[in-house]
Amino acid sequence: MRAAVISSPGRIEHADVPTPDPAAGEVRVRLEGCGVCHSNLPVFEGRDWFDYPRPPGSPGHEGWGVIDAIGPGVVDRAVGDRVGFLSEAAYAEYDVAPADQTTLLPADDLGPRRPFPAEPLACAANVFARSGVERGAKVVVVGVGFLGAALVRLATDAGAEVVAVSRRDFSLEIAKGQGATHVVPLREAQPTIAAVRELIGPEGADVVLECTGLQGPLDVAAELVRVRGRLVIAGFHQDGLRTINLQSWNWRGIDVVNAHERDPALYVQGMERAAALVAEGVLDPAPLLTHRFAFADIADAFAALRDRPDGFLKGWLDFGPAPIAAAPNDGGR
Ligand SMILES: [Zn+2]
Repeated sequence: MRAAVISSPGRIEHADVPTPDPAAGEVRVRLEGCGVCHSNLPVFEGRDWFDYPRPPGSPGHEGWGVIDAIGPGVVDRAVGDRVGFLSEAAYAEYDVAPADQTTLLPADDLGPRRPFPAEPLACAANVFARSGVERGAKVVVVGVGFLGAALVRLATDAGAEVVAVSRRDFSLEIAKGQGATHVVPLREAQPTIAAVRELIGPEGADVVLECTGLQGPLDVAAELVRVRGRLVIAGFHQDGLRTINLQSWNWRGIDVVNAHERDPALYVQGMERAAALVAEGVLDPAPLLTHRFAFADIADAFAALRDRPDGFLKGWLDFGPAPIAAAPNDGGR
């Protein structure tokens, strides 16, 4: 099979590697698509602590596709099932995953099969589950990438009044499309905070979701939480220490939630909720997947991830419809 390999910093190419066989309890998935995650940038660009070449298919972790082989002992999944799954090597035509880390996708017999980047959708569903957003709540989403946009949709669907705050005009348009009640451009902290307060009142928001992983927007987000409100940190903060105004957090008595999950079982629950939300028409990942690339063009997908051209929210790789009957190495299973 063909797999993508980051061979050296800044270089990703294709290699022919053996098609993996599913071990006991595993399924093999013929990929239909895989999201390209912002978190892939450090390993693509190069950091001192990474060795190259990276393993084939790594670090693809947002795949979906059709099961074409099952390992011994798998009873609740079958060849032909369309699934989202958790893995670390999904930049490849085939990948394997534990059967209990797959989620059946909504049947989709209308038109072309819809993309379902399982892991980031699960992330959005899980963040939202920990946000405590209720009907009528005032909610601010700071940062509108794929995650922020999905959270705008989930919060508006829950009956909240949602203010979306983002640096890019394009993202604010996306947020409107996801149902945001108001949008505010993210500029310097104080004018941005003042603009949001003008919309929701001086007391602040019930829930603020920070989705950037950056210090400046974290400051904006934290300032906007009302007394006894909730700050939900959904961004990935990984470039050093952060400064916070603990005196102010403390005085307001705010709840602070770091809304990431590490337990695969919780990710699976998130995938299942996300699949149901897509089936109900609440969530639609399609408008959030702004850039489609054929798997053959994965280098272009990474260039777009790095350069973030105007109108770029998230890229994904299209492997084409799964030719189940033509799968290699399936041994007649
Ligand atoms: Zn991801």
